[in-house]
Amino acid sequence: MIVVKIGGAQGVNLDAICADAAQLVASGQQLIVVHGGSAETNEISTRLGHPPRFVTSTSGYTSRYTDRQTLEIFAMVTNGKINTLLVERLQKAGVNACGLSGLDGRLMMARRKDAIRVVENGRQMMLRDDYTGKIEQVNSLLISLLLSAGLTPVIAPLAISPSGEALNVDADRAAAMVAGAAGAQQLIILTNVPGLMRSFPDESTLIDRLPKTGLEQALSFAEGRMKKKVLGACEALDLGVQQVIFADGRIEHPLQAAMAGRGTVIA
Ligand code: ADP
Repeated sequence: MIVVKIGGAQGVNLDAICADAAQLVASGQQLIVVHGGSAETNEISTRLGHPPRFVTSTSGYTSRYTDRQTLEIFAMVTNGKINTLLVERLQKAGVNACGLSGLDGRLMMARRKDAIRVVENGRQMMLRDDYTGKIEQVNSLLISLLLSAGLTPVIAPLAISPSGEALNVDADRAAAMVAGAAGAQQLIILTNVPGLMRSFPDESTLIDRLPKTGLEQALSFAEGRMKKKVLGACEALDLGVQQVIFADGRIEHPLQAAMAGRGTVIA
């Protein structure tokens, strides 16, 4: 089984990804798709007069500050638009895709980070009313039910808290948790770069093989959201996934190329 995470960065070739996915599914390969939507959420929330606000935690990670209104926009964009149109594209390519978010059937359960300590203008402060979460459990039974019915799950990055609240979760780390819970052999993270670069954006510094032991060092040259992908890779390997591949989603046959080892292969 393979979990494919499709990024929302510009340039990703969705038709090529769906065509490859269709070939894989037709050959009997089980696939699970997880997608993001952060770029489009930024654009639409700005158009709706509620521009995004990013905060940096005291440990140096940047994330979206998700108040209730932002959560509603995030759900509308990721689960409403992106998920539906990805399912449409996969269905056109001949894949019986089934779209759902982590709320459906409690697919992804997360702990709400209700107070986060952030640094703003050099000052530390606590933010409350934040609807983001860290996934703690994945309903693997629901995933196997869908797969055994011949469906390809397409998952939007929302989770559910123990008390039933919707939460925004990081899509890369969601894909890692799903891959671990489903017992996937590979997690392929498709984005708009050829892989992890030692000195971004110099493509001649692309790292093609990375042992798990090198991940901590890799965190130091991953910038911004790339850090979350490195964390996700670490979590997936810890959960028993054999390989995590950061691969180029802009090329023809992006999945076949990733499976053949093109990109950054972490094991
Ligand atoms: P997605 O929307 O696909 O999840 P992101 O935009 O969140 O993708 O992350 C991918 C981006 O990470 C790349 O487009 C690149 O700008 C950035 N990046 C930061 N550091 C690195 C690095 N060391 N190697 C490759 N990409 C990096």
